[in-house]
Amino acid sequence: MKYEKIRKTVLEAILEAVDQGLIHGTSGNIAMRDDEDDVIAITPSGISYTGMKPEDIAIVDLNGKWIDGPYKPSSEVPMHTAVMRARPDVKATVHTHSMYATIMAMGENPELKPITPPQCEFTPVGIVSFTMPGSNDVADKVVDALGEKGRACLIKNHGMFTCGKDMKAAMHATIYTEEMAQTTYLAKVLGTYEPMPEEADKAMKALIAADQAV
Ligand SMILES: [Zn+2]
Repeated sequence: MKYEKIRKTVLEAILEAVDQGLIHGTSGNIAMRDDEDDVIAITPSGISYTGMKPEDIAIVDLNGKWIDGPYKPSSEVPMHTAVMRARPDVKATVHTHSMYATIMAMGENPELKPITPPQCEFTPVGIVSFTMPGSNDVADKVVDALGEKGRACLIKNHGMFTCGKDMKAAMHATIYTEEMAQTTYLAKVLGTYEPMPEEADKAMKALIAADQAV
């Protein structure tokens, strides 16, 4: 099988996301770039992830052209490929319709702040206004919301998009952004919302940056 490594990585990640309840049905999609061959492995469109095999994962080039695999690539190819083109540091991207991220994207001021230390790595979380799924327009807005260093953004009435230097980092961004949205939501419902103090957030970000620099 061609592109076996990236196909297996994408499959493992999507099954983990399903397991963790971050992805339901066939919503959500995950992509991984192979620098040597300049190709991207991405989950196929409209096919159940349970029982999927590595060879079922689609392969596209950096412009999103379908080059291998039996099933059509995800309709969100433009979002994943636009981020990979704009950010050479990004090797893996994850898009989910996870529940709390979707809820917390609504409203006038949906800014998420870290509640626990690991969440500090993923803020600020950008916001994308509603734009038709699968369009180049939403892809451009996600690129803008992530900026040069962003790891996560919320997409109104849709879900979230995260990225990382490898699949582990992109999955962490997904898990902790959803956790941040969930803890924020529940604390606001309880009336006890209290994000980490700004100083602590800054100190944590410095620690995380130093660790990543090693
Ligand atoms: Zn979507």
